[in-house]
Amino acid sequence: MAARSVDVPALVAAARAGSPRAVARLISLVEDAHPALREVMAALAPHTGHAHVIGLTGSPGVGKSTSTTTMVGAFRARGKRVGILAVDPSSPFSGGALLGDRVRMQDHVLDPEVYIRSMASRGHLGGLSWTTPQALRVLDAAGCDVILVETVGVGQSEVEVAGLADTTIVLLAPGMGDGIQAAKAGILEIGDLFVVNKADRDGADATVRDLRHMISLGDRTEPGLWRPPVVKTVAARGEGLDDVMEAVDKHVEWLSSSSALRQRRLARAGTEIEAIAMAALRSRIASLRHDESLDRLAADVVDGRSDPYAAADQVVAALT
Ligand code: GDP
Repeated sequence: MAARSVDVPALVAAARAGSPRAVARLISLVEDAHPALREVMAALAPHTGHAHVIGLTGSPGVGKSTSTTTMVGAFRARGKRVGILAVDPSSPFSGGALLGDRVRMQDHVLDPEVYIRSMASRGHLGGLSWTTPQALRVLDAAGCDVILVETVGVGQSEVEVAGLADTTIVLLAPGMGDGIQAAKAGILEIGDLFVVNKADRDGADATVRDLRHMISLGDRTEPGLWRPPVVKTVAARGEGLDDVMEAVDKHVEWLSSSSALRQRRLARAGTEIEAIAMAALRSRIASLRHDESLDRLAADVVDGRSDPYAAADQVVAALT
């Protein structure tokens, strides 16, 4: 990729001053794994750590987009600056693709205190773990008080989004994902708050009951541990929004009164460092193939002059 020159200090200053274009450009640099990213991240670092990151996950159609929109409204009513990151882990498309579907977000599109961005996460460097935290840093440094990360729930990505967020909200709907299914999918462990949306439909109370029961079977009953509440909503009509906001506030209080917030952020930074280090190692190993030293080692293994372990040791030694 051509290293188009980027005036990083100017771009970062503009983003911090609230320029949506500068924020968008910085997130594009993240998506492109642009060579200027190293300088960008160094410039952003002193300005991060302020935003509260809320992850929202659940199956397609459960009401994530609708719920996100109502929550954004509630945070805006409190005067908060809000970032929204819609991540589709299964999609190679970014930019407009996902956002095009997010028609209800139009409510907030013209609000200068709201940044909306969709990202494909399976880029060339792979994975939510790599791009999303860096996009979060951009939004954080741009002065967002709250960042909502919306992910389509497809197995592993739900667990990944939980790793990225300070507060994880799992959305379910009656008849789509009852408590048993939730337990099977392993999402009971990741939710800090469960929202049974579409409570205007039959079966909502049963789903709430199931979830509460499953949660009570978990090992989160020790004093001082967070017991995830289950809240019913009709997002399409804004019903239950106050309960969701209250539960989020309580979780924020709990996070800051315990060591949980710091622990979560340490784990998040650790994962991020590991992902960047792995990407760097992968590209250096790829460059060994490029200069044919990997091919020579392969020939040694094929011809019996070496074994794969000894050859791998040589690769690792060459990296340090
Ligand atoms: P997402 O795919 O999880 O983001 O779900 P959306 O927010 O796009 O919602 C999917 C569909 O469900 C849309 O047609 C919404 O209008 C509808 N919907 C959202 N919330 C509710 C609700 O509480 N009750 C009902 N009946 N429909 C809802």
